[in-house]
Amino acid sequence: MIRTRFAPSPTGFLHIGGARTALFSWAYARRHGGTFILRIEDTDVARSTPEAVQAILDGMDWLGLDYDEGPYYQMQRMDRYKEVIRQMLAAGTAYLCYTSPEELEAMREAQRARNEKPRYDGRWRPSLANEPVKVLPDPPAGILPAVRFRNPADGMVAWNDLVKGRISIANAELDDFVIARGDGTPTYNFCVVVDDWDMKISHVIRGDDHVNNTPRQINIFKALGAPLPHYGHLSMILGDDGQKLSKRHGAVSVMQYEEEGYLPEAVLNYLARLGWSHGDDETFSMEQFCAWFELDHITASAAQFNTEKLNWLNAHYLKQADDARLAEETLRRLARQGVDGRGFTDLPRVMALYKGRVANLNELADAAHAFCIALHPAPELVQLHLTEPVRAALRTLSAKLADVAWEAPALSLAIKETLAGHAMKMPQLAIPLRVVLLGQPQSPAIDAVLEVLGRERVQERIGRLLA
Ligand code: GLU
Repeated sequence: MIRTRFAPSPTGFLHIGGARTALFSWAYARRHGGTFILRIEDTDVARSTPEAVQAILDGMDWLGLDYDEGPYYQMQRMDRYKEVIRQMLAAGTAYLCYTSPEELEAMREAQRARNEKPRYDGRWRPSLANEPVKVLPDPPAGILPAVRFRNPADGMVAWNDLVKGRISIANAELDDFVIARGDGTPTYNFCVVVDDWDMKISHVIRGDDHVNNTPRQINIFKALGAPLPHYGHLSMILGDDGQKLSKRHGAVSVMQYEEEGYLPEAVLNYLARLGWSHGDDETFSMEQFCAWFELDHITASAAQFNTEKLNWLNAHYLKQADDARLAEETLRRLARQGVDGRGFTDLPRVMALYKGRVANLNELADAAHAFCIALHPAPELVQLHLTEPVRAALRTLSAKLADVAWEAPALSLAIKETLAGHAMKMPQLAIPLRVVLLGQPQSPAIDAVLEVLGRERVQERIGRLLA
């Protein structure tokens, strides 16, 4: 059974890197009919916030990354971690360490002075039966002991990383790290292992900032006699500028993409291609992605963010999106600006007119705004476009529109007749008409605009400007 998990720490929003990790873990479970689990790693009490938890849940929800189990919260699993710690102490795979912070600092100082890597020197590590007997000092009074993992002294830790290939590291490089602090709180690397074990995670897919944690985690798995998951570490994502992701280049909340008018399917499609490919395919549904997704198609090198490509995908999906859905979305966006567009029932037709012309949902909402509410054109536009000859032509047109059949061909004919009667060319009337009707000189074909606006609104807006 394939079981994957996304395990964010709720210390900030769900950003692009996290969302891609979630997407790949989700897709791998979906691909294999497995289970996808959401686990909130909130043991860093000082930095975890309920707002960040909510931001993660909102981001997952917006992207449609549904989880089959969870969210589990590590803070609710403290008893379980403490239980495993007791078991490890009893089994001798962990031990109490009474080294004070001052002693630790002095130890590191001395190591640095000798040009050595700072590490715990094992002063409280008891000897095993097959090792020379070591006499430990008496536990000092007044110090709450930390619990340290008894890391194997020699040999190698190695795994076949599903993305990066074989990785191995000598145990001698790893020291006996703390798995529970003096106050009893378990530490990060330890909780992850207990969780991945208890939750029967088969594939750990995560960012490669965790590669250094993996050997430690594998050693704990082994000490617990637990089966090892497979590991795949995703390479980092670089910003548009080739540098580490920054706020200006992609390190923003996925919900900011929502605010900026991106469709979730565009963002998902974009994320899927960050470090993964399927031939030359650039646009595909999530269904398609899940059917194709295999870890061996992930590139080990860093992926680079490309805003232009994301914009291209967004335009692509906007064009394809269902008009009624876009209308719903537009109403929500208008409501955020305090505009109630519900009175304009033909919004889906406005969507059809504009969705191939805009870059994002906010532009679509701006276009719709002018249909829903008679906007006052800027005075300079009125002055520039509503000249006396234009006003005369508009009066003629308005008279014709009073009883014309309200459909594009007939409307187009009414405009042409007006043009002929006033010796004008199309733009000379169409542009002022756009200003009158929508408050701006650009729009899709004018007859289509008239048709969608409807007779009443058109006549009312022309009348108001002429008055
Ligand atoms: N909580 C870790 C993070 O947010 C991820 C841990 C993991 O995936 O193993 O970076």
